[in-house]
Amino acid sequence: MLARLLKKPFVRAYATNNQLFLSKDVSKDIPTHELFQKLGFTKQPSSGLVHWLPLGLRILRNVENIIHTEMRRVDAEEVALSSLSAAALWKTTGRWDNRELFKLQDAKGADYCLAPTCEEEITDIVKAHVGSYKDLPLIMYQVARKYRDEKRPRAGLLRGREFLMKDAYSFDVSETHALVTYDKVYGAYKAIFRTLKIPFAIAEADTGDIGGSLSHEWHYVHHSGEDSLFTCSSCGSTSNIEKTLALPEVDSVPVDTAEVRYFLNESKDTLVALYYPVGRTLVPLFLKEEIPDLNTKSTLTDEETLAKFMEGEEIIGKSIIRVMDARLHDRTILPDFPVPFQRGSFTTLTGLPLVEAREGEVCYKCEEGRLERQKAIEVGHTFFLGTRYSAPLNATFTNEFGKPELMSMGCYGIGVSRIIAAIAEVTRDMEGFVWPATIAPFQVTIIEGPGKNYQQTVAMMDGVAQSLKEGGITVNRDFRPLERFGLGKKIRDSNLIGVPLVVIAGKALPRLEIEVRGKRWEQKETYLWQELRARKQE
Ligand code: ATP
Ligand code: MG
Ligand code: MG
Ligand code: MG
Repeated sequence: MLARLLKKPFVRAYATNNQLFLSKDVSKDIPTHELFQKLGFTKQPSSGLVHWLPLGLRILRNVENIIHTEMRRVDAEEVALSSLSAAALWKTTGRWDNRELFKLQDAKGADYCLAPTCEEEITDIVKAHVGSYKDLPLIMYQVARKYRDEKRPRAGLLRGREFLMKDAYSFDVSETHALVTYDKVYGAYKAIFRTLKIPFAIAEADTGDIGGSLSHEWHYVHHSGEDSLFTCSSCGSTSNIEKTLALPEVDSVPVDTAEVRYFLNESKDTLVALYYPVGRTLVPLFLKEEIPDLNTKSTLTDEETLAKFMEGEEIIGKSIIRVMDARLHDRTILPDFPVPFQRGSFTTLTGLPLVEAREGEVCYKCEEGRLERQKAIEVGHTFFLGTRYSAPLNATFTNEFGKPELMSMGCYGIGVSRIIAAIAEVTRDMEGFVWPATIAPFQVTIIEGPGKNYQQTVAMMDGVAQSLKEGGITVNRDFRPLERFGLGKKIRDSNLIGVPLVVIAGKALPRLEIEVRGKRWEQKETYLWQELRARKQE
């Protein structure tokens, strides 16, 4: 049964579902992740998880192939690491307590996590195999499933709890060499994103939890994005929000209590939030809404409320859910207390940057232009790591004088599954998906026209399909009977799943004509089949 289904997945996928799309305006009604499911590209068994069905998998493989091609070009070696990772290495690098780790234990009680990224494991491998400086530089990469216990999985592929990432790691003899390698991989990323054909932005980024000192994020600018980019009108530099606002690259900040501000809801005179100035902005520490006890006791004085805030670790550790929109009122003075603050909690959890940069702010780099803010989807991230991992894991090589030295590293991620959702989101139109030809599940759909001589039409379709395939073009044959699925419907269905071209054969018999329609073309084009064949033979 399954085998039979899998043989005709494509036709089945849209033949069973297309009744749903009689309305032309699919874009208005259906969120992208639902469109993926309705058209049979993916299935989401539960929040944050995705099964890839044949149509979706075709796109995935195309994206992977583009990535493999460019990674090989910079001499990166492909590896495939286990998804399970024992706790020891993570404890050594201080990352075992990361909140997003999916942790599990074996029957003997030993701790593991499902790999969210692989700096620890890969460094451990390379350390065992690299002896001397002659073995370096080295770039290792894989396209593999990653696991993160995202607090707010989003739109299936965009923010999954299991997702596909291309992760690459570089190892060099010195920082200078590592930066050369960084540039090389940066070049590979440019090539990958160019081949994907969607305009992209590169933003200077902070290095966050991964550590290190130089980093870029790769984005698709789109209003649905969760990230914010700031671009200078004068020097043109683009940076992400953390970099722009100079937020610290640490998990907790020692809070100078004299600096903490708290805000009151003017009308109710109750405390609603605590903020702390970090860099050039105010970072929210807590919001009262999260602490139900406090909400009901609006008669508490400010001091009593603050005392409550400080009482329990669990309160202190809580993350920020959303900004209150009360008219905020500034006060000062607070007693001494340390406040651990989870960086990232306010961007990842809320989906909104809680920290607002003033628009129009003067560029922090050139100090001339003004910063313009745009929403964007992060699809890749490159980091220069230096010795952030090689030091704790003691990954050394012997230099030319026979002395051990720490390797200098870089790491480079691309959200392979997220890219597919992001491209769909950015390009889809009223008629469905619009895939760039480089990743489309099929590049051409061939449909028979309403001709009189069926035999001749089919022979012509075979000929067209054959020559397209020989040219390396992926072809979808729509064999559904024309009497039941009319020409218009077949064209619409092909457009719906985002096949860039439709070829209609045998419409004008006895003239052997083929008609070509591009999904985004204004006019169709018509060719004589004999002419095309003759041209091919020349
Ligand atoms: P985000 O800020 O969106 O949470 P991140 O900065 O935590 O992403 P990185 O650690 O930089 O992600 O991982 C490299 C790439 O993997 C990201 O640029 C993104 O494209 C992708 N990625 C990260 N988390 C997810 C996820 N939960 N689902 C799908 N793709 C993801
Ligand atoms: Mg994240
Ligand atoms: Mg990020
Ligand atoms: Mg990132």
